[in-house]
Parts: sequence; structure tokens; C-alpha cells
Amino acid sequence: MGKTYSCCSKPPFHDIHEECGIFGVFGHPEAANLAYLGLYALQHRGQEGAGICSSDGKTLHLEKSMGLISDIFNEKRLKRLPGDSAIGHNRYSTAGSSVLKNVQPLLANYALGSIAIAHNGNLVNAEQMRNELETEGAIFQSSSDSEVILHLIARAKSEDPYERITEALKDVRGAFSLVFLRENEMIALRDPFGVRPLAIGKVDDAYVVASETCAFDIINAQYIRDVEPGEMVIINENGIRSIQALKSPRKAFCVFEFIYFSRPDSYIYNHTCVNTIRKNFGKQLAIDSPADADIVIPVPDSGVPAAVGFAEQSGIPFDFGLIRNHYVGRTFIEPKQSIRHFGVKIKLNPVRCLLEGKRVVVVDDSIVRGTTSKKIIKMIREVGGAKEVHMRISSPPTIGPCFYGIDTPTRQELIASTHLVEEIRKYITADSLSYLSISGLRGIVPNPDDYCTACFDNKYPIMFPREKSAQMELSFA
Ligand code: AMP
Repeated sequence: MGKTYSCCSKPPFHDIHEECGIFGVFGHPEAANLAYLGLYALQHRGQEGAGICSSDGKTLHLEKSMGLISDIFNEKRLKRLPGDSAIGHNRYSTAGSSVLKNVQPLLANYALGSIAIAHNGNLVNAEQMRNELETEGAIFQSSSDSEVILHLIARAKSEDPYERITEALKDVRGAFSLVFLRENEMIALRDPFGVRPLAIGKVDDAYVVASETCAFDIINAQYIRDVEPGEMVIINENGIRSIQALKSPRKAFCVFEFIYFSRPDSYIYNHTCVNTIRKNFGKQLAIDSPADADIVIPVPDSGVPAAVGFAEQSGIPFDFGLIRNHYVGRTFIEPKQSIRHFGVKIKLNPVRCLLEGKRVVVVDDSIVRGTTSKKIIKMIREVGGAKEVHMRISSPPTIGPCFYGIDTPTRQELIASTHLVEEIRKYITADSLSYLSISGLRGIVPNPDDYCTACFDNKYPIMFPREKSAQMELSFA
């Protein structure tokens, strides 16, 4: 289920989120159109605003607006993006920083020409670096982390554009999957830990890069490989070339991409199918926490693959017992005379003929604050007429906020950081509640030591500036 967390509830440094989708194409006559389609497929990664920057070999052209890709771009606007290379960006919606100037790509002129950037991830020392740059006289146009990177590139000394980017990024800490566009080349780069995914593909003779491979399918591109942690991939008229720009101390792929964020039809992290992993989470859950029940239903859409896995493993029939309204917009008017569970009702409704008198297993991917589960369970009993409701969650309890690009509320607001499973069960009024265990999760993802699981174990792989970690009482893996 889509959910927006208000950024007012976060600590001040945590109000800029870069939970996004990025796309790039070099060497295709329809570059802007491909970028449009790629971003269309990546819309789930960000709905606040989007943009495309193209190059005709001499000049970079930028079009961006607030809103959804399909609302922003039409044929006329795409025609204003000439050239055979383009990069694009979908930005996630969070209040406060929801303004056009933060919508990417960001475009700047510097000593070596023009450069545009599209960034997915969150920097943990952006505030500190920004303060330093401002003290030295830099003027910022946006409140986005990514602009810090542009300033650092502009200030770096090297005449070699690749060394310049490397130099700029050497002190930047956090998650950054990046794609840059220059007049005659595209450069893709992933942070040393590889927190956010970034894949390389090919369509005809053109190279493409994208946060997820669902963006390749829509344009008939072939998934080749990922940009490796710390790797810089340079794509220009000479073909494709790679530099290990930043030393990678370890991998820390975000495991929440598998649980919730990526689309199930995508392959991420070295050709791993998201749907298969999600389904296996559900199977494991059924092995570890079986339920005596008549029907398994998912919380759509994110709970679907795990519910299929749970049903397959347990032999309990699967059905769509909750129907999601796919046309719910961002704003709606709540009736004056308050209707119970209105917020959830507008998105989901139980199918009474499936649930009445039944013992129901409800599978969702995660519990954050607990409000969704509580409302859904109430609705399944009151409107659906279920006899028993057994909640199964296909991830471990969420106990740590993410500082690397997934939008989560503060630690205090994460119900599992302050409550035991039995207390959460009571709060959401389930007959039983079980989560996937951390060992269960580790048994399913390939090379389990290569993941960031800080949201489940509080072990943060990328260090924060000292004062921030003290303030947050964080421990580092
Ligand atoms: P809550 O009501 O706070 O417990 O939220 C739980 C619901 O939010 C689940 O249905 C999840 O699918 C969904 N969810 C989990 N993480 C996120 C996220 N980062 N952004 C939006 N929705 C999320």
C-alpha cells in the first residue's frame, strides 16, 4: 500500500528524501521517448515530480514538473528534448521539500561544460557538506542532497571529467546511484556499498541504465549487468568503459528493495528476481509460522507475491479478499461526518463473499506504525465478516529508520522498536501475528552478508558524521 509519511515528524536533517527512480539512455534516436517510457515503468519509485534532460551533442535540454510522468509529458513537450541521449528522474513525494526546484535532473554549467545529474539514494553527510560549501560562498538553488554533488564537481580541480567526479565524491557518504549527462556522454556510478540498485542494459546499439529492469522491458532492452559498487561506467561514442572510481569496503544492498520497494517483475542485485524472493519470504513464513485457516489473502499490491508463497507452501487456498482502488489520487476530501477507517476504505475494500465466517490469513510485506494493519483487520472482521484474522508479515519487525533512501518515520514511531510482537498483535487486534525472522530472511536472499538490514537489526553499514550518530545513538555494522 502506498503511504506518505509526513516529514514534520522527522529530525531536521532527515527531511530531504531521495527515494527515487533513475533512467538514462545513450546513442538512440528516440532518447527522450525511451526515457519517458522508462520513467513510466519506474513511477512506483516516486510520484512527486519528474524530469528528463536530453543532449543533442552540443546543448543539454531540460524539462521537469511536479506530478506523474503521464501528466507532465506529452508529444509536444518530448519534442523539446532533442538528441540521442537523455537521463530522467522520478522523485518520491514527501511534504516540505515538495517543490519544483528539487525535481531532478539538476542541470549546471561548470568549467568543463554542462552537466546534468539524476540521483537515487540519500546522503548522510549532505548537511555538513552543504554547510561547508555555503561557508565558502556556494549558492544553492534547491534543498536536495544531489546539488551538493554538483557543487563538489564544479569545485574539483582535475581537468579530466572522470577524475573530477571521483574527486568530488571521495568525501560524500551515503547511498548514491547516479547518472550524469554531459554533451557527449553519459556516466553511471554507484556508491561504494551499492545501497540502491542500478542496472545496465542495451537496446539496439544504445546503452541504457535504470534503477530497475522493469524499465528495460518496456523498451525491449536487454539487461546486461549491474553497475558495481564504487564503479563508474562511461558511455560515449567510443562505447562503454568502466573505472573502479571508489573503493568498495563491502556491499550493503538495501534488502527493503526486495521486501517492498522494487517491482516484482524487476531483476535487481545481479539478476535476482524480486518476485521469486518475495514469494520465498512467504513460503518461509508459512514454514516458520503456520496458521490454521481457510483462506490466504494479500494486502495488495505489495503483499501479493508473499501471500502466493504462503498459500503454496501451506496448501491453504489463495484469493483476493481485499480489492484495491487503483485510481486513488494524492488528495481526497474526508466526509465531515467521519466514516470509520475512512483512510484505508478509500484504498481497500474486503470481498465479503470470500471472507464471511472464514479463518483468514492476511499477508502484508511490513508493519511500520501499525495503523494500516489495525484498520485492515477491523475492516476484514466488520465488513468482510471474517471469523478469525491471522496476520503474517513477510519481513522482520521494522525497528530502525532508514537513512539511505527509504522513507520511514522516526524510531519512536516504528511500533516494533518500542513494542513486543504480542503487544503489536493486541494493538492491531489480530488473532495471531508472526513476522519473518532475520535468519529466515537471510536464508532466502543470495549472499546474505551483502545486504543492509539496518531497518531490522539497527546495524548501519555507512557511518554518519560523529555528532549525528551520537545524537541518534546509532551503532555501525
Ligand atoms: P503502517 O500503517 O505505518 O504500519 O504502514 C504499513 C504499510 O505501509 C504496509 O502496507 C506497507 O506495504 C507500507 N509501507 C512500508 N514501507 C513503506 C514506505 N517506505 N513507503 C510507503 N509505504 C510503505
